[in-house]
Amino acid sequence: MTKGSLSDVNVLLIEDDEDDYVLTLDYLESIANFNFNLVWHSQYNQALEALESNEYDLCLLDYQLGPKTGLSILKEAKARDVHTPIIMLTGQSDAVLDDEALKAGAEDFVLKSEIGSVRFIRSIRYALARKELELERLERLRVESDIRAKDRFLAHLSHELRTPLTSILGYTNLLLSRQELENVKPELSIINNNSEHLLSLLNDVLDLSKINENNLQLNVEDVCLNSFLSDLHSLFKMAAAKKGLSFNIEAKTLLPKNVRVDKTRLKQILINIIYNAIKFTSSGFVKVEIALNESSKLEFKVIDSGIGIPQEKLKRIFKPFEQVQNVTTRSDEGAGLGLAISSALIALMGGKLEVSSTLGEGSEFGFFIALDMADETTLEPLRLNDAKNDEEDSLPSDLNGHILIVEDMSEIQMLMRTLIGQTGATADIASDGVEALETLKRNPDKYDLVFMDLHMPRMDGRDTLVTLRQSGLELPVIALTAAAQKGTKEELIALGFNDMLSKPVSVPELGHCLKNYLNAQQNSEVTHIDSASDELTFLVVEDDADARNLLELLLNSQQVNVVTADSAQACRQHINGKQKFDTILMDIGLPDASGLSLAKEIKSQNREQHIVIASGFDPEPEMLAESQVDDVLLKPITLIDLQTIIESL
Ligand code: ADP
Repeated sequence: MTKGSLSDVNVLLIEDDEDDYVLTLDYLESIANFNFNLVWHSQYNQALEALESNEYDLCLLDYQLGPKTGLSILKEAKARDVHTPIIMLTGQSDAVLDDEALKAGAEDFVLKSEIGSVRFIRSIRYALARKELELERLERLRVESDIRAKDRFLAHLSHELRTPLTSILGYTNLLLSRQELENVKPELSIINNNSEHLLSLLNDVLDLSKINENNLQLNVEDVCLNSFLSDLHSLFKMAAAKKGLSFNIEAKTLLPKNVRVDKTRLKQILINIIYNAIKFTSSGFVKVEIALNESSKLEFKVIDSGIGIPQEKLKRIFKPFEQVQNVTTRSDEGAGLGLAISSALIALMGGKLEVSSTLGEGSEFGFFIALDMADETTLEPLRLNDAKNDEEDSLPSDLNGHILIVEDMSEIQMLMRTLIGQTGATADIASDGVEALETLKRNPDKYDLVFMDLHMPRMDGRDTLVTLRQSGLELPVIALTAAAQKGTKEELIALGFNDMLSKPVSVPELGHCLKNYLNAQQNSEVTHIDSASDELTFLVVEDDADARNLLELLLNSQQVNVVTADSAQACRQHINGKQKFDTILMDIGLPDASGLSLAKEIKSQNREQHIVIASGFDPEPEMLAESQVDDVLLKPITLIDLQTIIESL
């Protein structure tokens, strides 16, 4: 049915007999609730053209059309992607023709003598309803494909912009560290600040477009609220102190020890609001108040004694690109996207961002988020523990030893391996119990510790442990359990496990566990570690020459040897040669292959090859897991990123 009233129906009648046209017209006009606009064609080619225009809601097609049959029009129309439903009309009943017409895609097959009957009007109604459904389906497909195209475009754009930004930021940082360039430092800093600004703008625009397309997904995880707020405090206390402002984070109630939230996004929101508060306050204070309310919602308030916002502007500042101050007079940069993104993220978390302000006195930004509280979470007072506890919470970096991770999920394998790598210990992977038993049988003395998942295909963790203990192996084995249930730990220890870590593994717990079990191994492993600190060689696969040269320069500055390749093919040639690479650092978009598929190909030949992907966007989690890469670096890649990789090796 066309635009306008629901009952307007454009009908195409393909019929070579004028009497039948008049008969059909009379009948259609007599039907209540519909307003049929009948267009009549009697010539084969014109009829086909009219059908091909797809402008009609319904076509009534006579079976006999002079020398040709309606069936051939029907077949031709379907071949030309005509979506209009077609009802075939015929003079006499014929089961074979009926069958043939339906097979060729007709909606129905009706006798001309039935025009005027209930059967005919029912047939029309069905055909129209089917057409509506078909249109909806086509529209849905069109929208989905538009969204996919836009996503691909944004991912591509982001990658393309990040690659040159990597070079700009990287080279200016490098120049900024040169003492002989002291005299041009102010200019270099300008380039550097603007590049950083461009990067944050790029991130904001990408976020906003994801939000607009309902495409932004939250990554909810267990978060220790105390550490989260302590981090935030450490982050801002210097910036506030520099402006002579007091900065505090206060809890108004006891707070849950652990909450389930998207940590990165919650941090992004708070950073935005607190950063604004400090930016728009020249004297006095900025404080953050946090409370757990009766309906288990976490309330945040960021209060400042700054310049305030005029009443009439209050509603508008949550809109993209809105700023109260005239842009040309502003000393601090910002595109007016932060609050738009924050309020959309808060809405996604089930809350609402609100603001109240008095001009010249200050502003208060408040929001709550619905909490998916970890079961029976304990409540505790907030204890900000900036530097001191950071150390306790972070991983030790001076450990030695070999660990076997027995785990079937590649993301967790990767995470554990990376975390363990940061401590100085090394880790191998077994994907299930059977593989673990084989590995330990082959290398009975290699490992100092085993982390074992309980739920795995082929052979689960409990059975594997029992088999191991029966074979006389006394190596410490830590169970990794998905849910910390009461009683599980005792049961597991009784079975022969030494301890238990619940997933998701928390960094401090992992750190304690590693310290407990690896310290004793330190002396016996020294020789091994010494050899591991030999010179490293990286293969850098990057098609952008500037980015490639920069990576080479940065890696060389860390005493890493670098071999470069500008395509997947060149990369394959290097790997097939004699040289071995400690890491392959690979761009995600190579001219002749995607980095992820190349990584997958390399891993399928050599599982142990360490591969890091450099990407301008977050790769899709499924593709990432499938490629089995060990790490992903988001462009622009910094020296610190590279140092982290080097340390993990
Ligand atoms: P911007 O990047 O411009 O800071 P935001 O979306 O974060 O963008 O903020 C939009 C505008 O709201 C700011 O430009 C500023 O005019 C106003 N604003 C935000 N927070 C405060 C505050 N705490 N005090 C005064 N004005 C504020």
